[in-house]
Amino acid sequence: MKIAISDMPDDFYKGKKVFVRVDFNVPIEKGRLREDYRIRRSIRTIEYLANRGAAVILASHLGRPKGKVVPDLSLKPVAERLSKVLRVKGVKFVNDCVGKKVKEKVEQLTGGEVLLLENLRFHEEEETNDSDFSKELASLADIYVNDAFSTSHRKHASTYGIASFFDHRMAGFLVQNEIEVLSKLRDNPDRPFTVVVGGAKIKDKIGALKNLISKADRVLIGGAVAYTFLSSKGISVGESLIEEDFLNWAQEVLTQSEEKVFLPEDHVVAPSMEKKAKAKVVQGEIPRGFMGFDIGQKTALRYTHEIMKGQGTVFWNGPMGAFEIDEFSHGTIDVARALSLAYWRGARTVVGGGDTAAALRKAEVLETEVDYVSTGGGASLEFLGGNELPGISILDDRK
Ligand code: ADP
Ligand code: MG
Repeated sequence: MKIAISDMPDDFYKGKKVFVRVDFNVPIEKGRLREDYRIRRSIRTIEYLANRGAAVILASHLGRPKGKVVPDLSLKPVAERLSKVLRVKGVKFVNDCVGKKVKEKVEQLTGGEVLLLENLRFHEEEETNDSDFSKELASLADIYVNDAFSTSHRKHASTYGIASFFDHRMAGFLVQNEIEVLSKLRDNPDRPFTVVVGGAKIKDKIGALKNLISKADRVLIGGAVAYTFLSSKGISVGESLIEEDFLNWAQEVLTQSEEKVFLPEDHVVAPSMEKKAKAKVVQGEIPRGFMGFDIGQKTALRYTHEIMKGQGTVFWNGPMGAFEIDEFSHGTIDVARALSLAYWRGARTVVGGGDTAAALRKAEVLETEVDYVSTGGGASLEFLGGNELPGISILDDRK
C-alpha cells in the first residue's frame, strides 16, 4: 500500500524536514520560463507540507547536463517563479544539491520555508543511481515524498536510490492524481473509449499501444506512426518514416481489429521537412520522392467528427504530424480543438505526452479545457502499458 501525504495526521509534519522530489523540467529560454504547468501542478503538495510546519526541500532535474554544471540549465529561474506562486513563509535557493553549503542551508531552514536545490543532474551520480550520492541526499531530511510522476519510470538516485534510506516515504498529490486517472484509463475507461495515437515512433509506445488498442472501441491513427500501418497494408507511403520492425505487428492489429482502426486517407506531403514550401495534399498513396508530415483535411474531418461526439473517454497521445512546423500543424491543431469540444460536451478527455501537451498549447487549448493533462510522457505510457514504475513501487517496499 502506498502512503499518501494526506494519510498522516496534520501535526506529523511540524518541525520535520521533508525532501520532495518534484519534476521542474520546464522549458526555459534565456532565464525565462516559457511554460510552467509542472510547477503549478506541484503547488498543492508543497503548500500542504509547508503549511503544516515542515521545512520543505525541493529537488529536480532540468534538461540533460550529463553530470556537468551547465549554467543555462540552472533551476534558479524556477525558484524565482516559485517565490511568486507559493503561499509559504519563504522560498530559498542553493546552487548545489549536495555538499557543505547545502547542509548549512538546510540546517537554517525553518518550518514553513521552502528550499529549492540546484539541478540534480549536474552530478552524474544522479542518473547512475550512485548509493553514496543517494545517501547524501537522504541525509538532508526526515521524510521522503515523491511528487515527480514523470520521472518515476527512471531508477535514479533521487527517484529510487534515496527512498530506501527513509522509514517514511510517501506519494505527493500529483503522483496520487496521475495514478488515479491513468489507472482508470488502463483498467476501466468509460465507454465508448476512443484512442487517438500519433507521434514519431511506435517503438517508444508499443506497450501502451498494445494495451490501449485492445481496450479501445475506436483507434484513430496519425503522425509518423500511421505510415507503418499503411505500409503494412501494402499502401505506398513514398519516403515517409516507417518502422520495419513493427510492420508485422501493425498488420496483425489491422487484421484483428480492422473495423475499429481508422487510418489517414489523405496526407500533407513534402520532399523533406526543410522543403515545406513544396508541401501539398495527396489522396491515398504517397508518391515517390515525398514524405508524409501531417494528416490531410479529409482525414482531419473524419477524426474530429469521431472525437467530437462527446461520449465516453477520449485519450490522445502523439501529434498528428510534425506540428512544430506551421505548414504541418493543421491536423494536430484540429484534433486538439476537437478534443476540447468533446470535453465541453461531456466526454472524459485525457492527454498524455510532452509533445502532445505542447501541441495543445499551440492549438490554444487550455489545460482546463480537457479533463486531464498528464505531466508524464514516457512514465504515463509505461504505466498504461501495465509496467511498474520503480519510483512508485519503491514507495511500497519496506525493509
Ligand atoms: P509525445 O511526446 O506527446 O509522446 P512523440 O514524442 O511520440 O509525442 O511525438 C512527437 C513528435 O513526432 C513531434 O516532434 C512531431 O514532429 C513528430 N511527428 C509526428 N508526425 C510526424 C511525421 N509525419 N513526420 C515526422 N515527424 C512527425
Ligand atoms: Mg516526445
